[in-house]
Amino acid sequence: MNQRIQRVRGMQDVLPGEVWKWRYVEQGLMHITAAFGYQEIRTPVLELAELFIRSVGETTDIVGKEMYVFEDRGGDILSLRPEMTASIVRAVIENHLLQQQPIARLWYYGPMFRRERPQKGRYRQFHQYGAEVVGSPHPESDVEIISMAWQLLQHFGLSQLELRINTLGNSETQQRYRAALVAYLEPHKDQLSPESQARLVTNPLRILDSKNEQDRAIVEQAPKIVDFLDDESRAFFDTVLSLLDRLSIPYVVDPYLVRGLDYYRHTAFEIVSTALGAQNAVCGGGRYDGLAALLGGKPFPAVGFALGVERLLLVLEAEDRFPAKPPVAQVYIAAVGEAPMREVALMLASRLRAEHIPTTVDLLRRSVKGQLREANRYGVRLVVIVGEQEWQQGMVIVKDMASGEQKLVAEATLVQEVVRRLRQETNES
Ligand code: ATP
Ligand code: MG
Repeated sequence: MNQRIQRVRGMQDVLPGEVWKWRYVEQGLMHITAAFGYQEIRTPVLELAELFIRSVGETTDIVGKEMYVFEDRGGDILSLRPEMTASIVRAVIENHLLQQQPIARLWYYGPMFRRERPQKGRYRQFHQYGAEVVGSPHPESDVEIISMAWQLLQHFGLSQLELRINTLGNSETQQRYRAALVAYLEPHKDQLSPESQARLVTNPLRILDSKNEQDRAIVEQAPKIVDFLDDESRAFFDTVLSLLDRLSIPYVVDPYLVRGLDYYRHTAFEIVSTALGAQNAVCGGGRYDGLAALLGGKPFPAVGFALGVERLLLVLEAEDRFPAKPPVAQVYIAAVGEAPMREVALMLASRLRAEHIPTTVDLLRRSVKGQLREANRYGVRLVVIVGEQEWQQGMVIVKDMASGEQKLVAEATLVQEVVRRLRQETNES
């Protein structure tokens, strides 16, 4: 026997029994997106590796350790996208989107790839939903982005959420802060984890983000960026916070929250679920005014967030917020006996389907008992039983699966009757 081929580690099959949860989440996301008037953008899953190396940066885990990079047959160095912000900025520049309009409000949804150690809530192929406001330097856009992320999660009835926010200030503030942070950390260098020691040179802000216990203890005493803000940065942050107050969005200011990328400015935020354990960040975002210039475009301001869909699914599970599993079909047509009645079943199914009533028939030539068992498993509301005797009178039996009640219905009025019954039950529930 040939050896079985398995799926790639850290990548998941979404099976039919689970896919309805994805649909539920996707529909909810679309619903709220529509309320904000954002437009969808789709970009390729593959990009030149250079795009992420230049934007996200080699000193980050995402590019330094996690990115899938390969040489294609033509010798191009390509990469499976680990995130989509860089792709969007590339697309905005390449397609001159900001020449046609001064601002673009964009959303996206799709698979991202990072070669991380797989664990609960952390996969090598995962999905992000995200939104970006491109073209506005004003704090109202930061707040619109945050409120969109917040409302998306509220829509699902989640309660154990925490919005954490910080500011990184403008680039002058960041430079002064970085110098102060390095000056503080230098004397502790020997106590830092090897990773953080390396970051002291390459990307010191990322040390604030370290999960290492000993690093954390040192970071706790570190200078805070809020104490380094110049007037512009202070005013920007104050406006963001007061607008959040106006919108009644609760937040916690976390002075050590950073997005460890050089192009971030001002707002950085994260939404975590206290219902999750280790991988508790559902959503992260911030302002990235410095990115366009890194990609060789005319600079433009932008702010956005990315939400992990697998994590959102885990939170919904943890907070028990999924609705009831939808039935596979609403009507099952069971045929009694051999070919003639099975043909009738096919014909009736076709009529119901033409009216958009989700209908299933038996394809395994089973006994009536077997067919009823399948109907049950599919969770249908009605079974139409086509028997020779009744059919000769132009009648079929309609069985209500909830009450068990059976009724003779004339062929000519079947569609009408089914529609009426289904509507009735929907109103009752
Ligand atoms: P983490 O600290 O959990 O590694 P991150 O800072 O790498 O997160 P971002 O790059 O900000 O995450 O991505 C935004 C969101 O995407 C995260 O908040 C999370 O919900 C989700 N996410 C990131 N990496 C993964 C992954 N490997 N598997 C599943 N979801 C992920
Ligand atoms: Mg990560």
